[in-house]
Amino acid sequence: MFSSDCDTDMEALIKAALSRSLTTLCFTEHMDRDYPQSDSSSAPEFFLDTDAYRARYLELKDKYEGTIELLFGVELGMQPHLVDWNINYVNQYPFDLVIGSAHTIGRRDPYYASFFEGRSEEDAYNEYFDETLLDIQLFDDIDTLGHLDYVVRYGPNKNREYSYDRYREHLDPILKLLIEKGIALEINSAGYRKGLGEPNPCKDIVMRYKELGGELITIGSDAHSTEALAYDFDRIEKLLLECGYKYHAVFKQRRPVLYPLG
Ligand SMILES: [Zn+2]
Repeated sequence: MFSSDCDTDMEALIKAALSRSLTTLCFTEHMDRDYPQSDSSSAPEFFLDTDAYRARYLELKDKYEGTIELLFGVELGMQPHLVDWNINYVNQYPFDLVIGSAHTIGRRDPYYASFFEGRSEEDAYNEYFDETLLDIQLFDDIDTLGHLDYVVRYGPNKNREYSYDRYREHLDPILKLLIEKGIALEINSAGYRKGLGEPNPCKDIVMRYKELGGELITIGSDAHSTEALAYDFDRIEKLLLECGYKYHAVFKQRRPVLYPLG
């Protein structure tokens, strides 16, 4: 099972999932309200037409009934000023899975180089982690935290000077809060595709979550293409087993169902 957010046609993702013998596929289209447009006039718009998405999902669910289990998820952008809007949004649709992700920090996306200008990489990473913590403190109606350490994909030195240990004072409060609130940690294979040699978050964070008592792991791919779907699933599974996990969670109607690894 994999979740994916996709520009790709949903049906193409189903076909790719079937060819990989996946039994479950959770769509997680992006919804980022108030996404900053400042860096480029061609910046993408991430406001999701959820009604259309839902309608397409139901059509495909019907068509593929009996061949693959299709789940209806969303990857929701968290920002401190969006709390009320996000609470309302999540309650409007019968989602299976809500991934909470910090794509925008201080109203800027680290995807753009300007996020890092005029300060140290360390300060930029810490701002990312600290605002992620604030996001979850303010809004906890999410099932899993998407790609913690997303910022590292775009830092000037990426993960060459980055480690869990170096940032532990900023990372541990996030992991502890997730555990306290029963929120899962997503492990996302996109980091491999982006040349980090690690998933997001990195292995040491995944281990630390377990050490602190965290048990709920969801697996995601940020698949924007059919090739990326289930990319390195085996690699993630192996990493999770090495970290001592025995199960991964698939959310259905917003409740975790545990599937054995390996
Ligand atoms: Zn994301």
